[in-house]
Amino acid sequence: MEPFQLQRGMGVPTFALVPWKRDFPELLAGMSARDGESIEDPDRTNYALHTGAPAERVIQNRKRLLAQLGVPFSAWTCGEQVHGVNIHEVTADQCGRGGKSMETAISGTDGLFTRERGILLTSFYADCVPLFFYSPDAGIVGVAHAGWRGTVGGIGPRMIRELVRRGAVREEIRAAIAPSIGGCCYEVDEQVATPVARLLPDPGPEILNPAGEGKWKLDLREANRRLLLKEGLKEHHVLVTGWCTSCHPELFHSHRRDRGRTGRMVSFIGMGKG
Ligand SMILES: [Zn+2]
Repeated sequence: MEPFQLQRGMGVPTFALVPWKRDFPELLAGMSARDGESIEDPDRTNYALHTGAPAERVIQNRKRLLAQLGVPFSAWTCGEQVHGVNIHEVTADQCGRGGKSMETAISGTDGLFTRERGILLTSFYADCVPLFFYSPDAGIVGVAHAGWRGTVGGIGPRMIRELVRRGAVREEIRAAIAPSIGGCCYEVDEQVATPVARLLPDPGPEILNPAGEGKWKLDLREANRRLLLKEGLKEHHVLVTGWCTSCHPELFHSHRRDRGRTGRMVSFIGMGKG
């Protein structure tokens, strides 16, 4: 079953991570969607301040989404994404950073995790792979932004090591790979294919599918899944979406498809105050 299910009819569309919602009611985890009207007006469902969209509009979108999710806007916390592999633990005093302005975002980090309840970790996407993490025993949630650079740099395995260092039992860690560009649409050249093949020897056509001279179709989601399994996660604890951001303009921003002129979805995860 597709783990990310579209929720319509309550204002802005979102994807809920249904199996986690069922198994871990203390969690709020999902991703925003765009709607048909956003094809003409990408800022309508744009949640990122770094795209050059008017800040008031982005902040209004963020507030509308959180009101719908029943979370106070003061919980919105994000990092300055740089396609790197730095991971940062968000402490209670850092709650709200980056919510109202880029200047206060946690600098230079693509991976966030927290042990605090009441913090909503957020990060932004238009094709890159969102990785969600949850340690039910240690009470830690995390999100990592894995484009090809983050994937090759091992941001997923790094996050697992951080969680284990804080007491998470590796075999109990859950991960979910959210909507992002699929192997159907992500053509790469040697610059990207070579480091992927170095990291995952014998990747097979499920990860790197030859697509002509010096070209491959890369499935970054499968690459991330393999890396998480290599790091010791149980196969049945890693959920993977089938949604491709490039294939569905009515639901997703896609940097590649829209040639850079697009908004960003937000992926969010947090533990309720409860
Ligand atoms: Zn596709």
